Amino acid sequence: METVAHPGEDQRECSQCGLLCRLPPRYPGLVADCPRCGNVLWRMRRSRRSYPLSCAVAALLFYLFALVAPFLEIHIYGRFSVARLSTGPAQFVLEGFGLAGALVFTVTLIAPALKLGLLTLTLGGLRVLPPSWLKLMFRLYLALAPWAMIDVYLLGFLVAYTKLTAYALVHLDTALYALICCMLTMAAADGSVDIEQIWRTLDTRACTPKPVRGSAHLGCHACGYLNTAAPNPAPPGMRCLRCDAPVHVRKPNSLSRAWAFLLAAMCLYIPANIYPFMALTQLAHTTTYTIFGGIIELAQAGLWPLALLVFFASFTIPLLKILLLIYMLITAQLRTKGHLRFRTGAYRFIDFIGRWSMIDVFMVSILIALMRFGQFASVHAAIGSVCFGGVVVLTIFAVEAFDPRLMWDAEHPIYE
Ligand SMILES: [Zn+2]
Ligand SMILES: [Zn+2]
Repeated sequence: METVAHPGEDQRECSQCGLLCRLPPRYPGLVADCPRCGNVLWRMRRSRRSYPLSCAVAALLFYLFALVAPFLEIHIYGRFSVARLSTGPAQFVLEGFGLAGALVFTVTLIAPALKLGLLTLTLGGLRVLPPSWLKLMFRLYLALAPWAMIDVYLLGFLVAYTKLTAYALVHLDTALYALICCMLTMAAADGSVDIEQIWRTLDTRACTPKPVRGSAHLGCHACGYLNTAAPNPAPPGMRCLRCDAPVHVRKPNSLSRAWAFLLAAMCLYIPANIYPFMALTQLAHTTTYTIFGGIIELAQAGLWPLALLVFFASFTIPLLKILLLIYMLITAQLRTKGHLRFRTGAYRFIDFIGRWSMIDVFMVSILIALMRFGQFASVHAAIGSVCFGGVVVLTIFAVEAFDPRLMWDAEHPIYE
């Protein structure tokens, strides 16, 4: 078996429809997208490399400050309670919901720190660190990016804040402002880093041999590079020539893995909606709330924008994700032709929107961190929040496992 690289960098297999496209020469500000499905292949950034690096360093500093400083403080009839970022996850664990605590801890504390650290190290160490380390770090940065959910956490904070103001005097602390600055600078870093350009800089091969006719094409999922392999079909176990990630013609066992995650998510979706999400105790009287009950409470309090936000994030999006995934998986399985642009658009939509469903889980983590006054006034997490967190994570895994090119293979088979 012989593996050869394409001459470049100028060819690309669209990761969503499998079309072989030719990339245009780099022109800052230009967005190269797939002519068949509209997927963005290369967003050419205008900024210099030092700009995302400085943004990432600033975001990291804001994050470190937010980690140690107090986040929120509440006062109820002379009693007060302070919460840091880590208080919510710790409280989940103390209440016996270790999985939910681990989830919130991972997506609000570990993933943002790793993501920012890896981006800073990759951009700052481009000329210093060994290329193999840099490639691994940049791959990890790209994989971790959607799991750093500071932006979603801040929306969860907004919902928690409006609920808290109904019961207590709320004082916003410095870590909150630092977290907002961290979110803004992190978005600026993500939005200005030219991913393809970084991969080209990291590609240290002296030359790239000419392609072989009739060879198999394997677009890399990590860096986008188009690897070719002879013989065709490609043997298993190949790695990308540019970034060293494993490459496959199609994601291995894509449909069965996506079905497994989706079915598990559907099983959890029912208890997530039936069982209480949290319990509020006030003057020894306890009220439990389901997801829907929480939405109705917001609406009854006249907070319509927030009620709509939670309704979309916690009710509509998970349901829509499950229904669209079922539709995409069944049509891919039956090799149904037609509506391919719509189906690929639906895939992109649920891929983008999935993480925003975490708003309610973050809201609970903030409320349980602060409302800890026993029978006087306290909030406790309930099993519904754990099930709901499971639904969000499992549907994200299902989207990740599904290979949208399988839908296009019905009309455009790989081996003709
Ligand atoms: Zn495409
Ligand atoms: Zn690669």
